[in-house]
Amino acid sequence: MAVRHDHWIGGKAVRPATGAYLPTLDPATRRPGDEIAAGSEADAGNAVAAAASAQPDWARCSGAERSEALHAVADAIEAGAAELMERERACTGKVPAQLRVEVDMSAAYFRYYAGVLRAHHGRTIDQGAGHHTYTRLEPYGVVAAITPWNLPLNQACRALAPALAAGNAVVAKPSELTSTSTLCLARLARDAGLPDGLLNVVTGTGPDVGTPLAAHPGVRRIAFTGSVATGRHLAGIAAGRLVPLTLELGGKSPIVVFADAALDRAVAAAVQAVAMNAGQVCSATTRLLVEAAVHDEVVAAVAEAVERLRPGVDFGPIITEAQFGKVLDHFAEAGAAGLVPVTGGGAYDGGPGAEGQYVRPTVYAGVPAGARIAREEVFGPVLVTMPFTGEDEALALANDTDYGLVAAVWSGDAGRGLRLAERIEAGQVAVNGGALGIETPFGGFKSSGYGREKGVEALHEYAQIKTVSLSLH
Ligand code: NAD
Repeated sequence: MAVRHDHWIGGKAVRPATGAYLPTLDPATRRPGDEIAAGSEADAGNAVAAAASAQPDWARCSGAERSEALHAVADAIEAGAAELMERERACTGKVPAQLRVEVDMSAAYFRYYAGVLRAHHGRTIDQGAGHHTYTRLEPYGVVAAITPWNLPLNQACRALAPALAAGNAVVAKPSELTSTSTLCLARLARDAGLPDGLLNVVTGTGPDVGTPLAAHPGVRRIAFTGSVATGRHLAGIAAGRLVPLTLELGGKSPIVVFADAALDRAVAAAVQAVAMNAGQVCSATTRLLVEAAVHDEVVAAVAEAVERLRPGVDFGPIITEAQFGKVLDHFAEAGAAGLVPVTGGGAYDGGPGAEGQYVRPTVYAGVPAGARIAREEVFGPVLVTMPFTGEDEALALANDTDYGLVAAVWSGDAGRGLRLAERIEAGQVAVNGGALGIETPFGGFKSSGYGREKGVEALHEYAQIKTVSLSLH
């Protein structure tokens, strides 16, 4: 009999108002897993009420007290890593190394914001003698965090940690396909001493829970990570309510490789885009743009490396059935358009990988810029390559996308790398493998969204500025 997971509201497990539960699936085996509460507007409302009643005391705590509480949550994530990894594995089929990174990152978000919140202050503004003017960074109140299935716990923590750090209470709505790790986090956080009601989790579908949550009058800010279509829908609700929101959406990010680059390192980075979480990463650099003189050499090296990746060992399955179908549709359409992959281009039809939703790591070389597979986010282990000649063409191809989340540039000429970085339309650009981590603000240009997660910037997203001025006359 499947284990049933209830919502987490006000520091305890709460049965869904409808009494209904939704199934989950292990995509590595296609076997049914645990069940989660099928939430509704009533459950979302209860969670917002719990958050609203807990938030004022939290906001009145000193920064030092909030910091201590968030460090305790980070400790709890580290101590509970095995359980969190197992929850995550059960509904995503991820490989152990990927799970480890994500759970470590989740703890790191709490650790980082526990630290920086203590340097998060307003400022005094000098208006001359006789005035004392200062700003306060105040929380919004209740924040709704609606997150996707590709990096479930990690994406939740990326929003929850800064939101809580800034003094808000949160209601998390994880993807209905991958909710149990976020529920586990909420219980671990309560056990670690986080006051009841500050971190609530309501599970269920987007229309049944996500929409009423975003529309709830008690929610004063929304953090959304997911698809462009849902982002647009939620932005409409937020606009109607005049509530700010952060949108972290999709990408079709370029990796630009010049002939003078350290090609072995550039090739390894291109392979990472396929291997990491089987390409189900919004920031995956899946358009490999290579200077014509070395294009074929680079493509051959990338193809050879991705062919060595083993399903279930080096990379996991496609996490949802719908997404698995979407990736296979991309292959079918590319084939109908006359594109032949250098390697991959299908599911496994026997041996390792065949029992689950695994897709062969795939490379399409020399793809026309207008091809659907070159323009749309595939969200699977799929690279397209294009040759270019000269910096201007590289830049034009890099920017020839509706998206603008990240970009990578590889060149032996660091000046050229930085010239491109200045002109590429993306929220983050890594030159020669530059480090992009929790400290570096992350978010989109163009259709990849707006607002920033990570870095000190995220803390500012979850705080509103109040100016106070006193006349001394
Ligand atoms: P999705 O938009 O379908 O779902 C995301 C979340 O929104 C889920 O919790 C879902 O239940 C909810 N939702 C769906 N429909 C809703 C509705 N009508 N009202 C309210 N909520 C609703 O996206 P997905 O398929 O889960 O995720 C894949 C997408 O997310 C990809 O496009 C990917 O690029 C993007 N993504 C972006 C980032 C980033 O940081 N930029 C990170 C991860 C994923």
